[in-house]
Amino acid sequence: MVVNFAAGPAKLPEEVLNEVQKEIVDYKGLGLSVMEMSHRSPEYLSIHTETIQSLRELLNVPQNYKILLMQSGGTGMFAAVCMNLMGRTGEADYVVTGSWSAKAAKEAAQYGEVNMVIPKTAKYTSVPSQDTWKVSPNASYVYYCDNETVDGVEFNFVPDVPGIPLVCDMSSNFLSRPVDVTKFGVIFAGAQKNIGPAGIVVVIIREDLLGFQMKITPSVLDFSIAAKNDSIYNTPPTLIIYIMGKVFAWIKKHGGVNAMYENSIKKSSLIYNAMINAKGFYHCPVDQPVRSRMNVPFRVGSETGNDSLEQEFLKAAKAEGMIQLKGHRSVGGIRASLYNAITIAEAEKLATFMEKFFNNNKV
Ligand code: PLP
Repeated sequence: MVVNFAAGPAKLPEEVLNEVQKEIVDYKGLGLSVMEMSHRSPEYLSIHTETIQSLRELLNVPQNYKILLMQSGGTGMFAAVCMNLMGRTGEADYVVTGSWSAKAAKEAAQYGEVNMVIPKTAKYTSVPSQDTWKVSPNASYVYYCDNETVDGVEFNFVPDVPGIPLVCDMSSNFLSRPVDVTKFGVIFAGAQKNIGPAGIVVVIIREDLLGFQMKITPSVLDFSIAAKNDSIYNTPPTLIIYIMGKVFAWIKKHGGVNAMYENSIKKSSLIYNAMINAKGFYHCPVDQPVRSRMNVPFRVGSETGNDSLEQEFLKAAKAEGMIQLKGHRSVGGIRASLYNAITIAEAEKLATFMEKFFNNNKV
């Protein structure tokens, strides 16, 4: 059995995959698969509604927020957010703390004026204190990414921007900790990390922010159209939504987001402690308070990484069944992704391996 530490598409809970396998050909004795059903059939509609309702319960999403299921991918959402919200004032504030928020800001510049809230940095290793931020009073929204998947930088606070809607990309730490939804205008999350297979983005939006879409907004990216049509304006990815529903039920069964949070602290501490114990052999560049619980990037052998040792690390880990540990191509090194489906025992296995690898290779 392998342990899959991929950053996304990522490991899904075994229990969920087993259930899907059982139902894939014949869903509840209907004689057909969910992927063969009409998206307008009562059977599919009940899966669709229950999936959305179970997310509402997991995150305590208030009634004045809509939950939308969009097909844009995270990257499409960078544009959709602008097209739906930026027209309010023509400008928006971006807090760039990593590769994904940088991409979102670049995309936004096509649709209006983008204000950079914090100074540009060569490397993404920190979240500057909010006292130093330059928020513009005329911004349509303030945008940030809660967990930077590539760089391993995770916010340890929710920004306080009174009077300006907060828009947050939670793709890689969604449902891994409790969230006070009322602090946000929009939260979005691509499915392929913590909630299912790739192909859907969950959007949680405060109702008063609907209706500001630019004229150029394609119907399939229009939040108002999605809200009016319960996210079935056109054919939704029915199989993915069904699997997401299973993942939500799994989270609920295993203690909800509070339990996911406690586990994430245990799992990530195991890996960060393995680094501390190896006294400089492993190096995580991220400032301690904002080290991610979900994606742990590190170099092996030195601060900038020793190429051959890193290759050796990946090879030896693979030999022990631990795969997809290679860092993102833009930063190199190693990255261990510890999403909800990774068990504590699996994180322990990696931590033990790191200790052994250090003992075998220290100089
Ligand atoms: N935002 C974050 C935080 C991500 O990690 C990713 C992808 O990994 C994206 C956005 C982009 O998502 P997609 O590849 O679905 O466009």
